[in-house]
Amino acid sequence: MVIKKSQLEEILSLRDQSNQTFRPVSEELEKILYQPFEVLDHGFVRVVDYMGNDASVVQAARVSYGAGTKKINADKALINYLMAHYHTTPFEMCEIKFHIKLPIFVARQWIRHRTASINEYSARYSIVEDEFYIPRTEVLSAQSKVNHQGRDENKILNERESKRVLEILKKDSAQAYGHYLAMINQDENGNVIDEKDEGLARELARMNLPLNCYTQWYWKIDLHNLLHFLRLRADSHAQYEIRVYAEVILDIVKKWVPHCHEAFVKNRQGGKNLSGPALAVIKKMLKGEEVMQEGSGLSIREWDELIKLIS
Ligand SMILES: Cc1cc2nc3c(=O)[nH]c(=O)nc-3n(C[C@H](O)[C@H](O)[C@H](O)COP(=O)(O)OP(=O)(O)OC[C@H]3O[C@@H](n4cnc5c(N)ncnc54)[C@H](O)[C@@H]3O)c2cc1C
Repeated sequence: MVIKKSQLEEILSLRDQSNQTFRPVSEELEKILYQPFEVLDHGFVRVVDYMGNDASVVQAARVSYGAGTKKINADKALINYLMAHYHTTPFEMCEIKFHIKLPIFVARQWIRHRTASINEYSARYSIVEDEFYIPRTEVLSAQSKVNHQGRDENKILNERESKRVLEILKKDSAQAYGHYLAMINQDENGNVIDEKDEGLARELARMNLPLNCYTQWYWKIDLHNLLHFLRLRADSHAQYEIRVYAEVILDIVKKWVPHCHEAFVKNRQGGKNLSGPALAVIKKMLKGEEVMQEGSGLSIREWDELIKLIS
């Protein structure tokens, strides 16, 4: 289990308390508040707080004094319009705070999204736990020959090779953690190894730990910037290990703001921006005119992408 018994008890005790509020709430999100959703082998995502719901977006867009909402269909249509036309600020009226546990190499990609507030677990203050991401064999793929930036998800390593890779990963993780403990002069049960030694400071001993080691943070972001993160990371171009977190968060967004989620899936995930020349090519095609890459104003790559998109 990813969450320890004592941590689970803390979460359950929070769910035993309830507060009356006049603020807008999201009923479906309330049901999963604080609850961890497991991701990868030791990671999780859980919501610790939030502000606003679908109605908050509508209220802000209408700058209303009260509820500001109309019939559900009118509100849904307004949210869809705002999303389709990049009226972004109403979506910034909603905020959400997550507690996330993730491997450090995933955190390095995640931190590039600068529009969030973060507080990370301190490996200067606390002892790093013995938890390392070891991929499942189904995701141990070879380097892609087409996309130099990633793996070919259809080309999974054969049994012999994946066994060899997993042995290396497990051995290196165990060795690095063993050396970490040795440097801080502590054994795996938390006892001092040698009373005569000081033990190296944790802030230095940690530098030998590999990138598959887990970290944790509180991550607070508004809905607009969260959707931007999800467009980039809940996408097939994103690395599998960050994508699985983004997919869990996307499901949470669906519970929190179902109308915004629907508009996002329709306009951002399901849509595509076209350049002026690409649009001109489509218009000519619709008129039945013959169009070739040469003279279209598109490069070979852009042309191939367009044809792939519309066929
Ligand atoms: C598939 C994929 C591959 C990637 N590959 C690489 C890679 O090889 N190397 C690499 O370095 N990165 C890579 N990245 C990271 C990428 O370049 C972005 O840094 C990351 O996705 C964050 O996007 P963002 O800046 O739009 O998001 P945020 O930081 O959340 O910013 C949101 C928006 O706010 C605005 N903004 C925020 N800060 C500033 C600022 N200081 N100045 C101006 N505008 C600002 C921008 O409009 C920005 O789009 C990759 C990302 C993806 C999804």
